Amino acid sequence: MKSALYVVATPIGNLADISLRALEVLRGVDVVACEDTRHARHLLDHHGIRVPTLALHQHNENSAAEKLIRLLADGKAVALVSDAGTPGVSDPGARAVAAVRAAGFSVIPLPGASAAIAALSAAGMSEERFLFVGFLPAKSSARRAVIEEIAVETAALVIYEAPHRVLETVADLAAVLEPTREIVIARELTKLFEQIERMPLTEAVAWLTADANRQRGEFVLLVNGAPSKNAEELDAHTEKVLSILLAELPTKQAAKLCAEITGAPKNALYQRALELKTQAL
Ligand code: SAM
Repeated sequence: MKSALYVVATPIGNLADISLRALEVLRGVDVVACEDTRHARHLLDHHGIRVPTLALHQHNENSAAEKLIRLLADGKAVALVSDAGTPGVSDPGARAVAAVRAAGFSVIPLPGASAAIAALSAAGMSEERFLFVGFLPAKSSARRAVIEEIAVETAALVIYEAPHRVLETVADLAAVLEPTREIVIARELTKLFEQIERMPLTEAVAWLTADANRQRGEFVLLVNGAPSKNAEELDAHTEKVLSILLAELPTKQAAKLCAEITGAPKNALYQRALELKTQAL
């Protein structure tokens, strides 16, 4: 097998979700660098593959990358896998790949499962674009700040979340985003208790709390894009209300109150408020 770093996507649950080429490469390489050696061994054993493993996780990625480079310099073929799905997607791998490329060695991708793409494929989002957000911050204040930042994004949002935080995250999404938006909760994809449910964002907390099992497992949350109504479409009355409030209040508060008074979208009002402030300078 040609000496290179093969970046191999592995299953996100169902061990059969691996390509023939991935199995061929895993069988043929000299070493498999993996996030958790026991986890990788489970997959390799399942497919009858006996290859030495080497740990490469977020805490040793730089030193492990040096080992990979030495192996490649010796003409070896090395595979890189993460615990699930595609390495480098909310998983270690990117730093090692960058180091290997910088050292002048080939990096060959072997595409396969990724929870984001699996969720998108079954969610039926109508948007042509999506924004891969990955994990939001663990602390609510930081999380809300990021959600506010992406609130005006018209692409569908794709968010990863762990079971112990899914309720808080969904509550924050519902608190910050337009109430007209919808969410798809994709849970335990490719596994026994797979569930993919679409609902108004305002109903998602109630749905999650209605049955304790609904907060178990691994989650991808997809939210449809912000309504494309933009600041230019605000009517004269709304503009007037916004200007009056802006003269007395901070931008965010003025936009919020104006949304309550006129029913216009908060994000469009916030954008327009920023424009008005800049014009006034
Ligand atoms: N590299 C992986 C990929 O390509 O999707 C992602 C790894 S990230 C550390 C793990 C997160 O991915 C989980 O917390 C969950 O949000 C999502 N995830 C992974 N497997 C999943 C599954 N079977 N069903 C739903 N979400 C999953």
